[in-house]
Amino acid sequence: MEIHHDKHHGAYVSNLNNAIANTDAQNMSLEEILNNVSKFSAAIRNNAGGHYNHNLFWSIMKPHAGGSPSGKLVQAITQSFGSYEEFKNKFVASATGRFGSGWTWLIKNQAGQLEITSTANQDNPLMDIADTKGYPLLALDVWEHAYYLKYQYRRADYISAWWHVVNWNEVEQRFQKR
Ligand code: MN
Repeated sequence: MEIHHDKHHGAYVSNLNNAIANTDAQNMSLEEILNNVSKFSAAIRNNAGGHYNHNLFWSIMKPHAGGSPSGKLVQAITQSFGSYEEFKNKFVASATGRFGSGWTWLIKNQAGQLEITSTANQDNPLMDIADTKGYPLLALDVWEHAYYLKYQYRRADYISAWWHVVNWNEVEQRFQKR
């Protein structure tokens, strides 16, 4: 995680700063850039996504978190997926099935409902080019750089270990906020 944060995420930040220099994106917030990403270069798309996605990823994890969602969030999860277990199964299937590099998301979609989606590379559901748009509540990085040092090629083991560090309080706060 330290290498992932300092080296991989760090590279997205410096590449984003270079890519937005002297463009309209320079004076926009990160979310504004993502909402209008079709107007910008591939470098801005990849690195703005990379920065946002990793920021979110760090914020929804904490050591020894464990647990499961509660309150209004678990009600919404049950309503959309049938149960927390069903939600987890669908989320895992999406993350396992993502071909190549990308992310799996739990989003609040534009109708205000919960949905599981997956995007390639560093795209995300805030981007105007996303097939399914919404506000990301939970994000799982399934790039090989996220797990190769500890899990080699075993993405499935990384995914099942990841549930032990999900910070559901943070996910619930994001759910309440938007
Ligand atoms: Mn990553």
